[in-house]
Amino acid sequence: MLNSGLDEMSVMDAMTVLKPAGNQPARGEALPKPSLIGLTREEMGAALRDKGVPEKQIKMRVAQLWNWIYVRGVSDFDHMANISKDMRETLKTHFTIARPEIVEEQVSNDGTRKWLLRFPARGAGRPVEIEAVYIPEEGRGTLCISSQVGCTLTCSFCHTGTQRLVRNLTAEEILSQLLLARDRLGDFPDREAPQGTIMPAEGRKVSNIVMMGMGEPLYNFDAVKQALLIATDGDGLSLSKRRVTLSTSGVVPEIFRTGDEIGVMLAISLHAVRDDLRDILVPINKKYPLKDLIDACRAYPGLSNARRITFEYVMLKDVNDSLEDAKGLIKLLKGVPAKINLIPFNPWPGTNYQCSDWAQIEKFADFINSAGYASPIRTPRGRDILAACGQLKSESERMRKTERLAFEAMMIANHGSDD
Ligand code: SAH
Ligand code: SF4
Repeated sequence: MLNSGLDEMSVMDAMTVLKPAGNQPARGEALPKPSLIGLTREEMGAALRDKGVPEKQIKMRVAQLWNWIYVRGVSDFDHMANISKDMRETLKTHFTIARPEIVEEQVSNDGTRKWLLRFPARGAGRPVEIEAVYIPEEGRGTLCISSQVGCTLTCSFCHTGTQRLVRNLTAEEILSQLLLARDRLGDFPDREAPQGTIMPAEGRKVSNIVMMGMGEPLYNFDAVKQALLIATDGDGLSLSKRRVTLSTSGVVPEIFRTGDEIGVMLAISLHAVRDDLRDILVPINKKYPLKDLIDACRAYPGLSNARRITFEYVMLKDVNDSLEDAKGLIKLLKGVPAKINLIPFNPWPGTNYQCSDWAQIEKFADFINSAGYASPIRTPRGRDILAACGQLKSESERMRKTERLAFEAMMIANHGSDD
């Protein structure tokens, strides 16, 4: 069961934009010190050694720091009770473990939370902003994490793909999204969630992560790998690799490495079953066409009926939603242990696409079901705060405020009662 406070919430409450208090750095100010978040044990050891920490202490200090940062979730060296005051001073002088700046936190009327986070420029010319989204469901809480600011790919139905400013996020920035969400949800030992938070009643509040936010994770392989290895390390954030899913538009050369070196679940943004159509919807298809993509899927390490690949398929009215397409999908995936995830298209201002009619989505799903595939239709979440798939786009590239308010009002009118 979800902790609900929904009934009492009016739409205006649900659209509340929280500006969290706290000592956030000022707008545009770069973080002055290197962060210890997102470093491998070896890198952290080297950083400590460099600041004069004695060699015989390094291993123990790294273990202590990992525990405080990832297991206890502290973001202040002074809370590290078993580390001497002198050592804490050394750490404070040279490093930081601060969270990113929260520019905005929005809470949807379905409990979905979206954070707009700001990171330093790091060569991008100015500070950058990305979004992370938390989706509470019965029995689980999923955090959707971004891997890049914007995306260099230009899938024609995706809002993120229209954003110009692009840079890779660092491992620290990727991991910080998870730490920050767990902070805000009270998902660390001895912490409480803010009042009224909707989340799973039992277990971890962030139980699953999906690399399905902004960006193409396999165009930022090294940082994504490092962050996910810490997220799934038993001494790190301890998430099960089966509860971590990386979604790619089809960067074929990195698919095998994803299974081999990271070992997480794979999702493929398929969206079309013919090369001519996929070339338009997901233009990376021109470089890595369907045959190469499906071959790479067949070779995915650890693939079995118990560990299937998820194929995401956005339902676009009169574009890819015919029964011919459904037939083509079954044919294409023959012999691949697969789940099919039908995603109703989430509109955004300026798009020429429309979401398929509900009856057509159901027909399509029935056809796939009768061919033996589970094909859940993904319920759109957080549409009223533009937090749903493909709607993410950060402040630097946002629509004008009046435009956004009009659009949000329309979304509430149309989809305020999705669940
Ligand atoms: N870049 C990666 C991961 C992020 S996108 C990828 O493309 O796989 C997460 C999912 O949302 C992808 O399947 C993407 O194709 C889909 N998506 C993008 N825009 C969408 C929209 N407007 N409506 C519904 N799904 C969308
Ligand atoms: Fe980039 Fe994925 Fe959007 Fe395509 S769907 S533009 S790969 S974020």
